[in-house]
Amino acid sequence: MSKATPSPDTIHLLPSEVVDQIAAGEVVDRPAHLVKELVENAIDAGAKSIEIEFDQGGRRVRVTDDGKGISPGDLKLALARHATSKIAAADDLWSLHTFGFRGEALASIAAVSRLTLQSRPQGTETANRVLSEFGKISEVEPTGGNPGTTVLVEELFANVPARLKFLKSETAETSQIKATLRALALANETVEFRLRTKGKLENIWPAAQSFLERAKQVLDVKKLYENQFTYDDYRADIVFASPHDVTGNARSILSFVQKRWVQDKGLQAAVVDAYRGLLMHGEYPIAIVRLEAPSGEVDVNIHPTKSQVKFRDQQSAFRAVNRCLREALERAPWLEQKPAPKIEERVRKLSVADLTRPYQASPQSAVTPQSSTADLSTAPQFSTGRFEAPEFNSVVFRQKQDAIVQAVEAHAAKAARAPSESVPLSQKLGPWSRLQVLGQANLTYILAQDQDRLVLVDQHAAHERVAYERLMRAWKGGEVDVQNLLIPLTVELEADGAEALLSVASDLEKLGVSLDQIGPQSIAVRSRPSLISEAALAQSLTTLAREISEKGGSFALEKKVSDLCATMACHSVVRAGQALSHEQMKSLLIQMDEFALSSFCPHGRPVSVDYPFAKLERDFGRIV
Ligand code: ADP
Ligand code: MG
Repeated sequence: MSKATPSPDTIHLLPSEVVDQIAAGEVVDRPAHLVKELVENAIDAGAKSIEIEFDQGGRRVRVTDDGKGISPGDLKLALARHATSKIAAADDLWSLHTFGFRGEALASIAAVSRLTLQSRPQGTETANRVLSEFGKISEVEPTGGNPGTTVLVEELFANVPARLKFLKSETAETSQIKATLRALALANETVEFRLRTKGKLENIWPAAQSFLERAKQVLDVKKLYENQFTYDDYRADIVFASPHDVTGNARSILSFVQKRWVQDKGLQAAVVDAYRGLLMHGEYPIAIVRLEAPSGEVDVNIHPTKSQVKFRDQQSAFRAVNRCLREALERAPWLEQKPAPKIEERVRKLSVADLTRPYQASPQSAVTPQSSTADLSTAPQFSTGRFEAPEFNSVVFRQKQDAIVQAVEAHAAKAARAPSESVPLSQKLGPWSRLQVLGQANLTYILAQDQDRLVLVDQHAAHERVAYERLMRAWKGGEVDVQNLLIPLTVELEADGAEALLSVASDLEKLGVSLDQIGPQSIAVRSRPSLISEAALAQSLTTLAREISEKGGSFALEKKVSDLCATMACHSVVRAGQALSHEQMKSLLIQMDEFALSSFCPHGRPVSVDYPFAKLERDFGRIV
């Protein structure tokens, strides 16, 4: 009987090279995975410095490390399947301290490439090497080389045409490899990485002192911040960019669990949720999450490429990440805490009197020194009339200065009366209140200046943020200023609307909204938060009822309240096209300093735009 090819419909064991090729496909489906396996082996071997060289989109790769090396007697074994030095028994899987454990990577790669494994153990004099020619292993032979290990892979997949066909373009594979290397570097900041493509040294990331330092080396973002937070023994360490630095996809959110790079939708959602209210639709944040779960709480052994994990307690993992990031974002570390400039400096630098001069007809008044210019509160302003088109500056608009604007003023007045500590005013000024208001542009933007730049503030967006934060704070602290309505406000809703709202009645109550059902599609509102006008409230409740009916009660409470506050805030604050007095603008800026996140409206749009004087000078050709 012939032992050759068995007929396909009898049961038989597969020839070992077929088994190897199938396994190879699971461990290394593309060059980036291969690079990951080789670099992780180097890290497992205690390397302090790793050099990665590749070309042909990763079909040729060389990884050199200065780790502990492999003794000559083990070289062939390293290429055998299920040969590993990293675990001995199944129980070890729960307390892994290495990246590798399956003993499959080198065997798999050796089956589908021309591979050279060369190594010289630390403290020995000679290097040895072994070659694999698509699975055919040579004898070990001595060679020259430094302490450590080098793996050279060539002609990857040359014997598996089907897999070769599935490789993407060289550019696509190259960028995937680079992304993988960035991730490996971010997880292992104490190791030096040197990256060569086509022989050219492209990146050196020297061993870093901290995660933040490494992130700054690797990511192309100027300003990064870090925060740590522990929840239920889940330790999160996150490096993130401000909501001003965003991207158009989720690829800049990276997650690591026990130092392994993982793709986890839950952790990604935790990051995106932390930026709620700070990003516009389609914008994604830049954040690198490192999570350490208590050992035994996480299973990293569910996929051969090990890019997925399973938490015993998904919620704690989510919370640790979400709170770590949110807490940090609410401190808005990107707002420079530089001290307000000294008053004399301001006068010298700005010479505000000059700014107003062109509008003054009389030559005498133009040169009159204006000693009060130094004082923020009495700074000269353009008469608003100069900026306003006459048709807007009508009585109607004045009447439209609604209760909110008055509330804003009352608040500012109250703040001014509050007993002030002995800190001088100039030091207490936050980044917004220390702006000098110059006027209002197009009835929409507050035109102001700081020491080094012009600032345009979108009055609607700014006021919206302030109202939103105040509502959220009141809701969280359970101290909403409530106004009882003498005549209940009746709101007509869509089908099932009343029932939907009643399902969240107790949350609404906390916001100061108490309501009764008076029909299947109508409710009576008996009280409202005083910050919100009746018209705005009716509109917000209609929207909320619709959302609850559509999405069900499944979305998280905080998100629900946050949306409600955002809608209420949006409907009740000053609009574009509304004239504001100098004092109103000033008081709005002062209130913005109460809330660190004032640079974003609750829908994520920016609130202000800066024009550095340096840019103006360049534009005017004063400096080149
Ligand atoms: P695993 O990493 O899962 O153990 P691999 O196939 O990747 O399996 O490697 C097999 C073995 O070869 C490892 O357990 C290790 O002992 C040895 N090895 C591989 N790469 C290196 C290296 N760069 N330095 C030292 N030893 C290595
Ligand atoms: Mg390995």
